[in-house]
Amino acid sequence: MGEAELHIVLLGGPGSGKGTQAVHLVKRFGLVHISTGEILRAAVAAGTAVGREAQHFMDAGELVPDELVIRLVRERVVQPDAQRGFLLDGFPRTLSQAERLDVMLLDVGCTLSHAILLDVPEEELIVRLAGRRLCRMCARGYHLRFNPPVLQGVCDRCGGELYQRDDDNEATVSNRLAVYREQTEPLIDYYERSGLLRRVAGADRGPDEVFLCVEQILTPAAGAA
Ligand code: AMP
Repeated sequence: MGEAELHIVLLGGPGSGKGTQAVHLVKRFGLVHISTGEILRAAVAAGTAVGREAQHFMDAGELVPDELVIRLVRERVVQPDAQRGFLLDGFPRTLSQAERLDVMLLDVGCTLSHAILLDVPEEELIVRLAGRRLCRMCARGYHLRFNPPVLQGVCDRCGGELYQRDDDNEATVSNRLAVYREQTEPLIDYYERSGLLRRVAGADRGPDEVFLCVEQILTPAAGAA
């Protein structure tokens, strides 16, 4: 693996817009999107051994064991298409995952290039998560208040049925926010110390504006300015 590619970690609380920004970023920069949450949800839906192991942690809003997610990420970053660059979304989630990621990447011959934090206050995360809906067929995201579909309950793009993630219910959300505060926020310091952290204000503006800001960080000429 080369050193010049974009190897990005996208950080931010649940509902901070990581999924939305990731979709734009992978298209704009030709990256492979590695979302551990999506990989795990697909494994649960398919009833694989990984899915069966992960499901009860996910239903409770707890993190699944490091060993399992690290194995999934490693399997994905060594695929040929990931050699053009990748975006990690929802991983790492703990200091131990971050340290193990560094070791694992060295082992496969690359290093991270950026850690981008989408900074959104917790009060806003709660509002966003409560209204979040996803398409069952194409996984496109909507929000009942901020980005509603034209037809209630139906995906604009593919006509699929919209649903609320099992872990977006109130009790699980408050646990996910607590897990984020306690286990994932320390990563902000970790990446600050390594000089990779870039903060992007993710509240009080739309996804397009947030994207422009992230794009500038990743475009060498603009980023160097
Ligand atoms: P997400 O879609 O990123 O919000 O992830 C949904 C759920 O999947 C989380 O609440 C965890 O149970 C699990 N999960 C996703 N990524 C990780 C990770 N890096 N480490 C541990 N658990 C994860």
